[in-house]
Amino acid sequence: MRVHFWGTRGSIATPGAGTVQFGGNTLCVELVTSAGTRLILDCGTGLRLLGMEMLKSAPPVRATILLTHTHWDHIQGFPFFAPLFIPGNEFTICAPEGVGASLADVLAGQMEYTYFPVRLDQLPGRITYRDLGEDFYEVDGLRVATQYLNHPAMCLGYRIEADGVSVAYLTDHEPFSDTLWRAGAEPGTIDSILHTGDRRHADFMRGADLVIHDSQYTPKEYATKKNWGHSTYEYALEMAAAAGVKQLALIHHDPMHNDEKMLEIEQSAIEFARKYKDGPRVFCAREGESLIVQTGAGPVKAESIRQTTSSRQQRRLSVLVVDDDVNIHLLAEEALGKDYDLTTSEDGEGCLETVRQSTPDMIVLDLNMPKMGGLTLLEQLRADPLLAGLPVLVLTASGDEGNTRAAFEAGATDYLTKPFTIPQLSTRVATGLARRLSVEAAVKTVEA
Ligand SMILES: [Zn+2]
Ligand SMILES: [Zn+2]
Repeated sequence: MRVHFWGTRGSIATPGAGTVQFGGNTLCVELVTSAGTRLILDCGTGLRLLGMEMLKSAPPVRATILLTHTHWDHIQGFPFFAPLFIPGNEFTICAPEGVGASLADVLAGQMEYTYFPVRLDQLPGRITYRDLGEDFYEVDGLRVATQYLNHPAMCLGYRIEADGVSVAYLTDHEPFSDTLWRAGAEPGTIDSILHTGDRRHADFMRGADLVIHDSQYTPKEYATKKNWGHSTYEYALEMAAAAGVKQLALIHHDPMHNDEKMLEIEQSAIEFARKYKDGPRVFCAREGESLIVQTGAGPVKAESIRQTTSSRQQRRLSVLVVDDDVNIHLLAEEALGKDYDLTTSEDGEGCLETVRQSTPDMIVLDLNMPKMGGLTLLEQLRADPLLAGLPVLVLTASGDEGNTRAAFEAGATDYLTKPFTIPQLSTRVATGLARRLSVEAAVKTVEA
């Protein structure tokens, strides 16, 4: 499989003399299989260059676009993608199913006359839209696995398997927990990872031949950029090494990092990687760089592929927030009130009463509360077989290893530490619900 980096920069295009080596265009990565199937990962400004290249082939051309999410740096190249302006060309655009506007509406939004002279529906190329959740899919004959990332927006990571190799694209993601390893466990293996989210993240890249991973910040910068939704090379390397990844390409370079700084970061990443015995080869992706991913251990994911594209729920979903702090009730109202039926409870006993009357689709739970603490409540909820699959997001000020581990052991599905942002809370709730609905849909398919 051939991989080409058309754009490697995160956040905003950063052209200029200082970025010629690593590139100034925002994210766009092209994968082409030996049979000529083309996948385009993200539509940052680098997509314009790919479009110019594609014009050299005789029309019609076709490709599948996999969008991680629709933040600017991932879609701004789209209106400048020349093949869209040629009749007969065909594109399928896949993106995570969000809680807001449809994908077509979001893309059309940045092409309204206020911003751009050509409307989306005036483009002569044919576009098909496909909503994705967290699942295994067949995309243009290729096996594609998806997984939600930790970003203040619904954001999907992709794992593509073709030509006997696996390539994972995991950008716009940050660690779920500051503490990576469980106390008392041998660090460096997937099983030793403390937070379920980080463990799932490492597992998703298990044995991959190439992982293209977010690494916007240096470890020092990350200290003040927590909750912004991006990673460091240290985190990406720890995950990739635990997962037995062969090569790690760092991407989503910070606009503040010029070539000189990028070389320094790359050197630090290489130094850091020396501590692993069979760690991945690591490099910072350069705009314009191509690499051939050779046959490795072979695909290990995608046991089953479902063609279903959507688990969209017709009814309005309900969320119960259990916290003795009324400020959290107010924040939850702002983050979740528009999209869900929200109920609140100030303690564990009140929560049990509410749940007995009507089971919510998800619970957001504080740990330290009067009368009955969050952990006791969680254990009581899990003791009821009917509530075994209920997603519970623990929202707490205690981000230490002991509390995190205890919450997961008691049955939490996710763990978010205060202070958090409104988009973070709404995304984590949306992710938990989407994952739950996807499991329910899978069970129904098997039963049918
Ligand atoms: Zn981004
Ligand atoms: Zn983003």
